[in-house]
Amino acid sequence: MNKKVVVIGGGIAGLSAGIYALKNGFAVDLYEKNSVPGGECTGWDRQGYHIDNCIHWLTGCRGEDELNQIWRDLGALDDGVSIYREPYFYRLIMDGNTLHFWSDTERARREFMDLAPEDEDEINRFFDCVKYAECVRVPCEKSLAEMNPIEYLRFGMTMAGMGRVIREYGEDSVDDLAGHFRNPHVREMMRCYMNGSYKAVALLSSYGFYSSGTAGIPMGGSVGMVRRIAARFEAMGGKLHMGMAAKHIEIRDHLAQTVTFSDGSAVSCDAVICAADTAVTFGGLIAADHMDRKLRKMYETPGGYKTASGFQAAFGIIGDADCGVESGSTVFSCDRFRVGRQEPGHMGMRVYDYDPDLFPADRRVIQCNILQDAEDYEYWRQLYGDRERYQAEKHRIAEEMRSRLEKNFPLLKDRLILLDSYSPMTFTKWCGAYKGAYMSFFEQKGHKSLTVKNRVRGLRNVFLASQWLSTNGGLPMAVTSGKFAAQSLANLYKHMT
Ligand SMILES: Cc1cc2nc3c(=O)[nH]c(=O)nc-3n(C[C@H](O)[C@H](O)[C@H](O)COP(=O)(O)OP(=O)(O)OC[C@H]3O[C@@H](n4cnc5c(N)ncnc54)[C@H](O)[C@@H]3O)c2cc1C
Repeated sequence: MNKKVVVIGGGIAGLSAGIYALKNGFAVDLYEKNSVPGGECTGWDRQGYHIDNCIHWLTGCRGEDELNQIWRDLGALDDGVSIYREPYFYRLIMDGNTLHFWSDTERARREFMDLAPEDEDEINRFFDCVKYAECVRVPCEKSLAEMNPIEYLRFGMTMAGMGRVIREYGEDSVDDLAGHFRNPHVREMMRCYMNGSYKAVALLSSYGFYSSGTAGIPMGGSVGMVRRIAARFEAMGGKLHMGMAAKHIEIRDHLAQTVTFSDGSAVSCDAVICAADTAVTFGGLIAADHMDRKLRKMYETPGGYKTASGFQAAFGIIGDADCGVESGSTVFSCDRFRVGRQEPGHMGMRVYDYDPDLFPADRRVIQCNILQDAEDYEYWRQLYGDRERYQAEKHRIAEEMRSRLEKNFPLLKDRLILLDSYSPMTFTKWCGAYKGAYMSFFEQKGHKSLTVKNRVRGLRNVFLASQWLSTNGGLPMAVTSGKFAAQSLANLYKHMT
């Protein structure tokens, strides 16, 4: 076809859009503002250790998943990429006891029953529903926003088990779910991982990804996966332009004509796929009045659609001796300390030791995380204005984290090197993330999940690809949004020829 498409943004959505546009016969130039592709799906090296920022779990790791085919189309997964499967979703250590959300839900059910027999009925109800939630799928053929009512119904019927989950927990927030249990450890287990105002169904379906076996971690981590995708893009003839921040899309007669960049250069094109964060896209690349009604609703209803981020610190473990912590995600109760506007009494941590190339025995890494919300983001944004205080505060929190790790896991004493600490502002600076968000908007109790069309109001040849086109976001939403944007692009030219 030889039509020239410009993709703005080299995260997972942009790379996916680029590859599917190439498959559809377009010539593709992808422009990314950073020096490496990947966006939020990234990692970096410090003092000989590797920090993997993103993939805690990748949905679509089972061969039979439709999503698996998309990852294969992109070169992210293939038969040569082995997958690590964690034995549990997360665990909570509290008052000397540990509860796990084992991938084997029957094992978890037994563990919960042993600790909290007083909650037998609720425990059974919960684990039954996790099994039902295993049917959750991400639409891979067509965006939900593009489906007609019959397609929508058919897709819904492939997830029949969710009917039961929604009947049982559809009205509940995570806090409501926790409130069904009498045992304090079980209650805390339910609400220590996500913001308490999020829908309980989000917790059940995330756990369902683990228990169904679709969640896994590809060897090579986030950076390895992005490199494989970028290599596929280039091998197919796509051109990657790094260090190029798009500034504006020039429009004439409802058509994008030219993209200008902050270095003053410009390129003309037949179509544009905007794969930057949608706050960047509608914050200057194109005028905000082109924004879809549903997307606008999410930005303008902060009580109904919330974002989540975190403050993190990464520590390298000195030596290869036992350090008393196991791989995977752990939350443990600890002395309260201030992070942003919160004063949490527990801390999340994750041990990275499962990939012998990224984390050899003497190069294991622990990352600590405290959830931060949109209000915390404002705190960090203001503090960032005074760079010295910002750095000092990051350092203070990282040291608080270190002391709690050492207190709770004594074998770590004097064996932790602080590698890096990063706040919600880090993600805004790195890739323009709205409110430093890790994923997109999470719908709150009483508010619907939404999917946004990838066409831009009033512009014929501009399309969107981004995790922000669906509530909950994440890698599956980013990668499918890229495929769907390329589909809409191909449809446009099919109708024009
Ligand atoms: C700490 C963390 C952990 C996560 N863990 C998981 C996980 O375990 N599983 C999961 O499924 N998801 C996870 N996610 C979410 C996942 O990383 C994101 O959903 C996904 O990477 C978003 O992809 P995207 O392409 O939509 O957006 P982005 O990654 O934001 O990509 C947008 C790209 O556009 C570029 N850009 C911005 N402005 C411009 C401009 N003006 N010109 C050119 N380029 C521009 C940015 O630099 C960026 O590269 C995690 C995210 C974080 C931050």
